[in-house]
Amino acid sequence: MPRTRRRRRHDPEVARLRQVALDAAAAGLYVFPVKAQSKIPAFHGETRCRRAGVCADGHQGWEQRATRDSAQIRRWWSGETRFNVGVACGPSGLVVIDLDTSSEPLPDWDGATTGREVLDQLAARHGGQLPETYSVRTPTDGEHIYFRMPAGVELRNTQGGHGHSLGPLVDTRAIGGFVVGAGSVRAEGAYFVAEHGRIAELPAWLATLLTPPPAPQPTNPTSLRLPTKRANAYIAAILADESHKVTAAAKGQRQITLLTAARVFGQLVGGGELDADNARAVLLEAATVHIGVDDFTRAEAELTVTRGMRFGMQAPRTIDHRHSTTSGDAAAGEKTP
Ligand SMILES: [Zn+2]
Repeated sequence: MPRTRRRRRHDPEVARLRQVALDAAAAGLYVFPVKAQSKIPAFHGETRCRRAGVCADGHQGWEQRATRDSAQIRRWWSGETRFNVGVACGPSGLVVIDLDTSSEPLPDWDGATTGREVLDQLAARHGGQLPETYSVRTPTDGEHIYFRMPAGVELRNTQGGHGHSLGPLVDTRAIGGFVVGAGSVRAEGAYFVAEHGRIAELPAWLATLLTPPPAPQPTNPTSLRLPTKRANAYIAAILADESHKVTAAAKGQRQITLLTAARVFGQLVGGGELDADNARAVLLEAATVHIGVDDFTRAEAELTVTRGMRFGMQAPRTIDHRHSTTSGDAAAGEKTP
């Protein structure tokens, strides 16, 4: 029936959701359709892919297909289906902190029952702040706090209480993750904006906590073999190189560069090649130029150094001094002072 079809095409709810998607795209977010009344992406999954259409050259999932293109958005939200609006965090450059609630108080977190309480305790523990930023309330009393991914940082999803997460009831959605945006609806209720305004950059202390330890390097079990005198020069060169990188790091790279250098130093500390206090002092000295510049604090620098060195020490690196070619004083395994 033409009349029916026409009425459907002008379903005001589809039009409303289309506008939600267009507004999100205009604000810089990459959107895609999510099944009506749900939080499940509307696109077929890889296991059901027929390698046709957009997938002719290989499956394209929601992360690949999410867009800011208004024509594409109009096509998706033009039929009968009242798609919710998915926001792909990776393409949008977002890190969204997804706070949940629990009926069971968490004994390790002062009896906290909400992710918000856990996050506040983390902030207090790490001397960090939570800047004002755009946030969304979910239909199940959860909260999505939106942050911009800092330059040079590539964070993936974390799940509360598992692996490299911030804490229980606190998930994060970043590369590989999505959130259902404000204006979407589920049977339980609507997603609505809790805090209006701009999306702030992820604070450095959270970026540090969320940065996974670098994958352990495959270490040569017999360790590097270097002449005694060159071993000192070798270590000195590593220290100088890493220190220089820290000092020269661009604004968006300071945290990650310091973390990386701290890991390298930590490996040498773990291997007995370096004194921990000295290593720490050298790193903080190298970072001094950044302290107090654009919100980079000494507390953050120290936290980053502590964290990086701790990771590094889990993968000890030793420099073998036995193969000295210049003197006879290098007894087997002897460490140079
Ligand atoms: Zn496909």
